Amino acid sequence: MLLRVVVLLALVPVVATAQDPAVLDVVGRGAEGRVAYDGGGRLRFEDATLGAQVVHYDGDGELLLPLAIAYEVLEPAPIVLTSSMGTEYWYLYHFDDATLSALYTRESLDLSDPGMHIAMPQDLRAWFGVNYGPLPARGLVGIRGRSYFLISPAEGGPWIDITDAPSWFDRGEVGRPLTFTLADLSSYTVQVAEVQSTWEAGGPLRMEVTVTDAQGDSFPVVNAPLQLSAGEWELPLKTEWSPLNEPTGWMQATLPDELPDEIKLSGAVMLMTLRGPEQCRMTGTIARGEGLVGSAEMQVARRGYELPRNADGAIRETRWIWAAPTDMDSAEKIDRMVERCREAGFNAIVPDIFLRNTFMAKSPLIPATAGTWAEFDPLGYLIERAHAAGIEVHPWFCVTYRDQAFRAWFEQTYGRNVDVIGADGTPAGEPADAHREEYRDFVVELMVGVARDYDVDGIHHDYIRVMEDCYCADCRAEFQAQFGVPLTEATPEQWTAWHRQPIGEIVRRTAEGVREVKPGAILSAAVFASLPGGARQGQDPAEWARRGWVDLVIPMDYAMQSLRVRANERQFLDALDDDDTLVTGLSLYQRTGTEVNSRPPELLREQIEVVRSLGIHGYCLFAYPHLSDEQLAVLRDEVNAEPAVPFYR
Ligand SMILES: [Zn+2]
Repeated sequence: MLLRVVVLLALVPVVATAQDPAVLDVVGRGAEGRVAYDGGGRLRFEDATLGAQVVHYDGDGELLLPLAIAYEVLEPAPIVLTSSMGTEYWYLYHFDDATLSALYTRESLDLSDPGMHIAMPQDLRAWFGVNYGPLPARGLVGIRGRSYFLISPAEGGPWIDITDAPSWFDRGEVGRPLTFTLADLSSYTVQVAEVQSTWEAGGPLRMEVTVTDAQGDSFPVVNAPLQLSAGEWELPLKTEWSPLNEPTGWMQATLPDELPDEIKLSGAVMLMTLRGPEQCRMTGTIARGEGLVGSAEMQVARRGYELPRNADGAIRETRWIWAAPTDMDSAEKIDRMVERCREAGFNAIVPDIFLRNTFMAKSPLIPATAGTWAEFDPLGYLIERAHAAGIEVHPWFCVTYRDQAFRAWFEQTYGRNVDVIGADGTPAGEPADAHREEYRDFVVELMVGVARDYDVDGIHHDYIRVMEDCYCADCRAEFQAQFGVPLTEATPEQWTAWHRQPIGEIVRRTAEGVREVKPGAILSAAVFASLPGGARQGQDPAEWARRGWVDLVIPMDYAMQSLRVRANERQFLDALDDDDTLVTGLSLYQRTGTEVNSRPPELLREQIEVVRSLGIHGYCLFAYPHLSDEQLAVLRDEVNAEPAVPFYR
């Protein structure tokens, strides 16, 4: 059977109409081998509120959380959306130490009844899971997004499937009211800790309210229903937010045009204690001139940064973009892509040249493609055009992501079956078995060959992981010989150790081969944004970088929540010996329900700001098919207005 070069549709975004981000059309994912749920159900999320600004927490992992979710069932179905001790949780961001915890609640969104509803956690119980994040410290925290919901029958019974939360949960206006303080409320006091104002007519006045808890620590309190008044004038205090929707710890109001001699404070702080909800009434007066500061001090503190420059004064920043096979299957498409990338200020294109059964270059190892690309060599032409525009090219290989057609061709050509076999003895999905030496030889030689035969600037690994656990006869025998136990009894640690061997070997041998044929080429790898998740699949990016097998580690950090991106990147900065090896993979697309479309350019700008403020020397955007004209304009005119050379050059 000849290798057939197939036209790829998977990476092409479906051009979607803009959909209300708060609407969820319940569509299942087919979790854990189930038939994907498609029995209908449609709801719109209206509001999410918290009934307390301070919640009792003494570190044992449990809370009483007065969370209320208002929703309208638009199209009923006999199901409920709920959660259990699994992967369905809230992301809880801790503002002091920038960690993300997994917060579980067990509310039930009933879709069997049309109209407006309010869901609250069962018995108001909430608790933290330690598999997806640490237990938080006390202090200011905020719910910042939601993973999945379980779909269960309304009449009760086991869950049917899972569905993704809509992007509404990632919105700043949804997360801000869900910001609160964790404190040990066995005993406590609440007080105004500080007042600041420039005392100019129409100028700002702000106030820091703190709770001092049973352990003697004080933490800021925000979102409290407090107001200022003087005579007729009355105004609520509003929480002050950073550009990333982080609380600064202050609440503020605008002074009236005629400054009163005295301003009254009224309202209450709501607390959820061990004994139930409590209210702490706040009263007091602020005399004119109290807490006087200059306007500079009133500014929200911003962490400044300066991008590094080389001896010639040029900015050093790695600005990459991934491109799909369909972006490069004709000269016209390549010309247009290179022109748009030049305009956007990218300094490298990372084209996917090997995905499933599609190979976009020439290699003696896959002779069939030589005929396909007899007239036109996509990789060769892209390199020629990109280099003419001053843009590097780093061919991208999906290392294990093959398909049945490829595996059949491989078996016929190389005499080796490389199917990944599931626990039930049948082939498990698309990947080739990385545990087979013949496959590793093939894919390493293919990558080294491209580095040798083309004027590339680097080689990029993706799907550099096993994808699926393999239980083929060879894997079982080799595992048993090495670990002394059957593969079916492998512990999580043994799975990690087992998968890291073949994946690490591919990374090492590719580096050795490429460095021999093309000194100066940059080796890079796209990896899971979660280090434990990647480890289970054989990834070990910190070790690969330490050993010099990769020059750049690129976590695929596609979260909508910029604070989540920051928490993930902090993990990588902690794990890597050399922070300069980190390049952040950011997404250009978003999912709304089942639709995929381009993200608003403001979100792209915000996330590149996060990368820069962390001192990370570059980003790689996923992916060119999603690069909208609006995103391009923001990159060209603002974010990348000044050109840059890649940091590593
Ligand atoms: Zn196997």
